[in-house]
Amino acid sequence: MSPESTPPSDPIVGIDLGTTNSLVAYVTDKGPTILLSESGEAGLPSVVRYSESGRAEAVGESARQEAVEHPLHTVSSVKRLMGRSRKDAQGELDFLSYEVVEGERDAARIALPGGALKSPEEVSAEILRTLKQRAEATLDTEVRRAVITVPAYFDDAQRQATRHAARLAGLDVVRIVNEPTAAALAYGIGRTTNNAEPETIAVFDLGGGTLDVSILRVIPSAQEAGDGGGVGGVGGADMFRVLSTAGDTRLGGDDVDRMLVELFTREAEQQFGSGLDFTPRTRQAMRLLAEQTKIKLSKEKSASVRIEIEGAPDGGVYERTITRDEFEQSIGAEGGWVMRAIACCERALRDAKLTPQQIERVVMVGGSTRIPLVQRRVGELFASEPYTALDPDRVVALGAAAQASILDGREQGALLLDVVPLSLGIETVGGAVAKLIMRNASVPARATEMFSTSVDAQTSIMLNVVQGEREMVEDCRSLGTFHLSGMPPMPAGIPQIEVLFMVDVNGVLDVSAVEKRSGKRANMQVVPHHGLSAEDVDRIERESFTHALEDMTRHRVVDLVANSRLDLKWITELVDRVGASIDPAQLEAVNAGITALRSLVERGDADWRSVDAEAFHQAKQSLDEASVPLHEASIARSLRDE
Ligand code: AMP
Repeated sequence: MSPESTPPSDPIVGIDLGTTNSLVAYVTDKGPTILLSESGEAGLPSVVRYSESGRAEAVGESARQEAVEHPLHTVSSVKRLMGRSRKDAQGELDFLSYEVVEGERDAARIALPGGALKSPEEVSAEILRTLKQRAEATLDTEVRRAVITVPAYFDDAQRQATRHAARLAGLDVVRIVNEPTAAALAYGIGRTTNNAEPETIAVFDLGGGTLDVSILRVIPSAQEAGDGGGVGGVGGADMFRVLSTAGDTRLGGDDVDRMLVELFTREAEQQFGSGLDFTPRTRQAMRLLAEQTKIKLSKEKSASVRIEIEGAPDGGVYERTITRDEFEQSIGAEGGWVMRAIACCERALRDAKLTPQQIERVVMVGGSTRIPLVQRRVGELFASEPYTALDPDRVVALGAAAQASILDGREQGALLLDVVPLSLGIETVGGAVAKLIMRNASVPARATEMFSTSVDAQTSIMLNVVQGEREMVEDCRSLGTFHLSGMPPMPAGIPQIEVLFMVDVNGVLDVSAVEKRSGKRANMQVVPHHGLSAEDVDRIERESFTHALEDMTRHRVVDLVANSRLDLKWITELVDRVGASIDPAQLEAVNAGITALRSLVERGDADWRSVDAEAFHQAKQSLDEASVPLHEASIARSLRDE
């Protein structure tokens, strides 16, 4: 919260009570915002450590970090036990480090070494209490009410257990919301004013250890919602009905880490001999390295791996480079990890009696959806670009906060989403902005423009997507960058790069760039209005008026510098090639034009104020005109040479 904003009274916060991590969020004037810990952490590990006497002595990161030393006193993944009997949870027990016994009415209880018994609700309450305190510290007021999310497949007992946990933590649960519904709400799905048609969406949630796929029907509030099971009204907004869920409680990013550990182990054994006994420290280091490598490969085309193997001969260093292609081949193999996830989506579709084409939008949740192959395969199955613009680890909490704000009747500062609030464009040479979609354009909106390179043999370009009304990048807000790489080397100005901006009904912007000759493409997604208040928009608009004239001139000079550079390059090449074959007076005019324009380029580049834009434009025109005989001579020569 910004210090100047007044503390809300009796606020409702949104809580994502997760299996491994939990978060708390609140809608400020900039929209849903994650509330951070004192040390700036967003996620609170859902881990509680108890003392010998059964007192909670650490919650969150410290409990997680020291879990290995206190396996029997540390409770993690307690969400898997919520509202369940020991028998129900039988399949989970092998994966938990602590002891689970049968309590009253068969309920699962955690038996601590000192003899204390804890219910899963009591453990969850410790996590909720910590989140409540965090919210109170940030919002500077007492927090008594919350919206809490649960998986769509949670049954009544599991939902009741969640409510009970909140009560123990001193929180009144205003509403329990399904996690996929919250994720959809975070993207504004079902909350736009101009999309009155019902739609069907899929939410694909792939975390560290579990996969949940949900198919939801979003029914605008004006329409008949029907009375089937699983209907979740959203207080004044739309209805989300769960059509089906499918999941795998043992499929997640951890499997990928294990696969990489197996690969490293196998290769290290080949290198050092199979009698090698890996120490616990080496194993732990390998696990960490595996996760880091996986995360790196989500961004980079290759990752280098280096690890010291304790006790191995010859200095014992195992080293290799792993490429994204190789990684994708192993996780994407027939019947492999990604295919298992896709099979889950197919099951969810079958249960909902729908075809992939009937799904209009796909929302990605969970850290493992950052893996590019996962995004591609899910996108291919549903034939639509999945929503990845919001942080997949935070999207559920952000949606819970959005729901809380609706229930609070407090849609303050919310931006109207049926128009693009600020212009959207990309950075061009010299730091200028080419605007593709202008502010107040109604959504959905779409625009394309062709760009090229400014340097010879450029095989990669960076696209900086910006938002704002000013003419230069430094005065706008960067929404993110992405690279289009793998282009064949060509002279400057020759590649044809088509950039497409699409803003959909929910305000999600998808920017894609394709190099026409090679077909190489890249894209990124963002939610441009995220973190933007109505006041911000007003201020940005005012500033653009104040600076309009100056900005226009500067943009013009910057473009002239870039375009004149290309002209100068081409024309000097022509002079070298065919200069001798034209009239000497004409050649002299060209050379004079080159000198004049070059001097303007140098001055304009150093300080845009030092040149007169109109005179610069004239100089460029004159040189273009003077170079006509050169072009003619060049054409004549090529015809002769044919
Ligand atoms: P979650 O349970 O949603 O927090 O997801 C955690 C999982 O996401 C872990 O297995 C992480 O290793 C994985 N993860 C986080 N960031 C990335 C990334 N950039 N690429 C691939 N996996 C990631």
